Amino acid sequence: MILDAKTRERMNEIPDTASRTLTQGQIEFLRRYGETKRTEVGQVLIRAGDISSDFIVVLEGEVEVIDNFAGEARTMGVLRAGLFGGELNMLTGQALYLSFVVSQGGKVLAIPREQLKEVVTEDPTLSDIILKAFLARRSIGMRAGVGLRIIGSRHSSDATRLREFAARNQLVHGWIELEEDPRAEALLEEFGAKPSDTPVIIWQGKEVLRNPTIAELARTIGLEVDATGGRTYDLVVVGAGPAGLGASVYGASEGPLPSPSSRWPWGGRPAPAPG
Ligand SMILES: Cc1cc2nc3c(=O)[nH]c(=O)nc-3n(C[C@H](O)[C@H](O)[C@H](O)COP(=O)(O)OP(=O)(O)OC[C@H]3O[C@@H](n4cnc5c(N)ncnc54)[C@H](O)[C@@H]3O)c2cc1C
Repeated sequence: MILDAKTRERMNEIPDTASRTLTQGQIEFLRRYGETKRTEVGQVLIRAGDISSDFIVVLEGEVEVIDNFAGEARTMGVLRAGLFGGELNMLTGQALYLSFVVSQGGKVLAIPREQLKEVVTEDPTLSDIILKAFLARRSIGMRAGVGLRIIGSRHSSDATRLREFAARNQLVHGWIELEEDPRAEALLEEFGAKPSDTPVIIWQGKEVLRNPTIAELARTIGLEVDATGGRTYDLVVVGAGPAGLGASVYGASEGPLPSPSSRWPWGGRPAPAPG
């Protein structure tokens, strides 16, 4: 990814891992998982907000990486032949926060998300290149303040709650301080909100959430677990700290329980919990 001068200046250093050019051999290998498509200037290959976009490898031409916010399209980088477009949210199933638009017609290799997951699990070298690039891009995005925007006061406990949630879930986001950032009030006005509505979240440069609950925010940005209704789980682990990891390892080592009737080893049913 080649970043424009302003962005480069703002971020000082761009890790090489974010913009590794794939070798011809790697591209040939990836062809098994996707489809070659012709591209035309202006074509949107990945649209911010999508959750099912293809991973793309530029074969010919150029693709711009764009952050759309408050009616302003900012070019974050340009992908040329051999570079690939995508970000970590493709693997986690969350909505993407940048758009990828063709600036010079040519060809791309488009790989559906499910096939990308196969590549990442099957080929250690490509997996390493793709994951490192995705992580480096996430870190660039964090420093550039793209993605979700949170406008609020640093003295507000609700703003802290939302910022903490964004930070703990490593959501790419920008923080706009109501009292200090000169853009804050103008932005609120542009999105039809008032300072008294803050903290305000702006998602994909258009959707406005006024002091949302964590659940509302998570739903809006597609941060949901696909726990299909009606399915019974032997064990659900929430939280990936040492206790969660321990529970997962022990749960996995015990294996699945054989049948519902044998789940309670002493026969019958467990007594209801007291209270
Ligand atoms: C500053 C500091 C230094 C420490 N140093 C050491 C040390 O040197 N050695 C040592 O042995 N211990 C140390 N500890 C203690 C150690 O970190 C804790 O004992 C340990 O992390 C507890 O593990 P846990 O899994 O119970 O909880 P946590 O580590 O807190 O993990 C809980 C996880 O669940 C996630 N979570 C919570 N709610 C939800 C939700 N609703 N949905 C999804 N995820 C959720 C949280 O984000 C978190 O990742 C230190 C602690 C601190 C604060």
